[in-house]
Amino acid sequence: MNKLIIFDLDGTLTESKQPLTATMALLLSQLLSKTPVAIISGGAFSQFLKQVIALLPVSANLANLYILPTSGAALYEYRNDGWEKIYEERLSEKDKDTIETAMLEAAKETGTINWSDQSWGERIEYRGGQVTMSALGQQAPIVLKKAWDPNHAKRHKLQEALATRLSGFSVGIGGATSIDVSKRGVDKAYGLRKLCERLGLKESDALYVGDELEKGGNDEAVYKTEAHTKAVKDPLETERYIKSLLNA
Ligand SMILES: [Mg+2]
Repeated sequence: MNKLIIFDLDGTLTESKQPLTATMALLLSQLLSKTPVAIISGGAFSQFLKQVIALLPVSANLANLYILPTSGAALYEYRNDGWEKIYEERLSEKDKDTIETAMLEAAKETGTINWSDQSWGERIEYRGGQVTMSALGQQAPIVLKKAWDPNHAKRHKLQEALATRLSGFSVGIGGATSIDVSKRGVDKAYGLRKLCERLGLKESDALYVGDELEKGGNDEAVYKTEAHTKAVKDPLETERYIKSLLNA
C-alpha cells in the first residue's frame, strides 16, 4: 500500500459537485484504516464538508484524512475532534478585484460567456486561496455543464485570455465550465509537495488518482512532481481501483 494516496474529487471520487455514494464512502473509510488519504479539488473547504466528510461513516479514521481545497492553496487536518487549517495561500481583496475585472474582460473578449444569459448561482466565486469563474454559474445542472465545452476549446480560450492579463497569478482549467485563478505557483503540484513535506514523505511515496491527467486537464500539474499516477475515467473506475488496492 502506498504511504499516501491522493484523489482528485470531481469526476474521480464523485460526479461533479455530487455527494459521495455510499459505496465510495465505505471504500474510502476502508482505505483510511490502512493509509493516509488526501483529497484535492478546486472547491472551497465548505464544499468538501458537504460533498465528502458528511457522507463518511462515523467510524472513519479522519486522523488519516487530509483535505486540500482550492487546488492545494490550503490544507486541513483533523486534530482534537475538529478540522484545523494548516496553511492557506490567500488572495487579498485587491487581488480578488484584479482577477474579477480580468475575468469579465476575458469573457467578453472571447465571446464564450454572455453575462446577461441565465446563470445558476454566482458566476464568480472568491474562495480565499482561489477565484473561480463558472460559465453557467456554480449550481448549473451537470448535463448542461458537460455539454457546454466538451472539447475544452472555450476553457482554453478563456485560460489564454486570462493568463495574458494576470501574469502574476496561476490560471488553470477547473471543472467542466470553470477557470481557477490562484497565487502564482499554487496548483495541485504545490499542494502535493506541501503535504509530502508535512508528512515527511518523498513525492515518490505518493500515488495520485485523477480523471484529468491528460494534457490540458486539471490534474496535469501533478506530472511536475515525482508522485506515481493512476488515470481513471470516472468514479466507477475509481471504485474498482480502490478495491484492487485494498485486496493487494
Ligand atoms: Mg476531476
